[in-house]
Amino acid sequence: RISKMKYQQQEENLKREKEAIVIKKKQAEETANMRQSFLSAMSHEIRTPLNAVTSIISMLKERADADEQKLLTSLQFSSKNLMRIINDILDFSKLDSDKMELEMHSTNFEELINNIRETYLGMALEKGIELNIQIDVALSKFYMLDETKLFQILGNLVSNAIKYTNKGFVCIDIELISSIGNKDTISFSIKDTGVGIAKQEQARLFDSFYIPSTISTRNNGGTGLGLAIVKKIVELYGSSVLLTSEKGIGSTFQFELVLQRSKAIVQIDQKQTN
Ligand code: ADP
Repeated sequence: RISKMKYQQQEENLKREKEAIVIKKKQAEETANMRQSFLSAMSHEIRTPLNAVTSIISMLKERADADEQKLLTSLQFSSKNLMRIINDILDFSKLDSDKMELEMHSTNFEELINNIRETYLGMALEKGIELNIQIDVALSKFYMLDETKLFQILGNLVSNAIKYTNKGFVCIDIELISSIGNKDTISFSIKDTGVGIAKQEQARLFDSFYIPSTISTRNNGGTGLGLAIVKKIVELYGSSVLLTSEKGIGSTFQFELVLQRSKAIVQIDQKQTN
């Protein structure tokens, strides 16, 4: 009888433990949801006035003299930086709570890469380094992809490459690896001749909030979220990022995506026929 009572007691304890785990899980889920909605509301609240600030700066720049232009350019840089940090935090919170999904659309691939060039050429020129882009001619002009997120991956990697390079070049190389049916495996590589990353730091670089403790990188004022976001988005595409780097020589970030070729979306004018 004693052993039966003991058994019942054990059963009871196990049941209670299980219930406690379920409650804890629920609470954790609720907290994650609250954190996510707080961050998204806060980011929105900050983004709206910041957008107003940046557009007013652009307007003021048009009629400013040379000295004022310099100040406004610096102000523009700071507000863009702030916007990037806010976007990083919001994206990261979405990814962290598994709320981010890929939204695939037929996308003009050539245009996307040209946008990258236009966005980052100024930054490269300012640092006196070359920004080269090589696109395989065998690639299709249109692919099914999530344009915003691919722009974000490439943008993060290219801006890092420029940020951490003081002389030489940054090269974006986009190559067709193989084709099966209407699916192409495409390799994206972003290579720089910059400061490079020490072996012992390479593995942790993709961790969120990780910034190597070197003074030069601390000065760049990053969040340590950029590469964590890149890693997570590439994973959403079912792939992974490969890093090869040597301190003082440079770094290459490479990943491969399998993308479906697509056609341009033609807008047909609906003519009324009577
Ligand atoms: P951050 O917003 O701080 O740039 P990232 O996650 O994008 O955050 O990068 C994390 C760290 O990785 C950076 O602080 C920098 O030290 C290092 N890093 C990233 N890209 C490069 C690169 N191309 N060359 C050298 N170091 C890099």
